Amino acid sequence: MAHYSTSTCRKVELDTCVFCELVAGKRSISVIGETADVLAFMDIQPVNPGHALVIPKRHAPYLADLDPELAGQILATGMRVAAALRTCGVRCEGVNLFLADREAAGQEIFHAHLHVFPRFAGDGFGLKFSPNYFVLPSRADLDEVAKHIRNAMRASPGSTGNRRTGS
Ligand SMILES: [Zn+2]
Repeated sequence: MAHYSTSTCRKVELDTCVFCELVAGKRSISVIGETADVLAFMDIQPVNPGHALVIPKRHAPYLADLDPELAGQILATGMRVAAALRTCGVRCEGVNLFLADREAAGQEIFHAHLHVFPRFAGDGFGLKFSPNYFVLPSRADLDEVAKHIRNAMRASPGSTGNRRTGS
């Protein structure tokens, strides 16, 4: 029964996923390039001209739903797009790569996607910080949080976080 419910939810999710629809050719997009697993195309609401999105062709709502190999392909494609932005003629003095994982992080379409967009001085885009940002934590505070993250990474399957800790 639980399995049936999960399947039903997934079907609804896929039926209403904008990115799955465009992968299936049900929506018009401006394609930059694709591989068997990854598609790069123009964002319809660009931060700056040249703003691209890189997505897995297979539905994956969140970052954790991507296997590391696929995530690597998405980043590699994002790097190629970033390099092209610098030479293709759009205004580009720098590039941001941005992936919003979950609603609180600004994710609006729940099919994982990497934004790749050109930046230039005075383009009006920026990150907003809380006042706390300007109060630097102590080394002890940083070490404490690092310890918690390390422990969480050890506890999660497929962890790659222990390599540089020496423990
Ligand atoms: Zn999807």
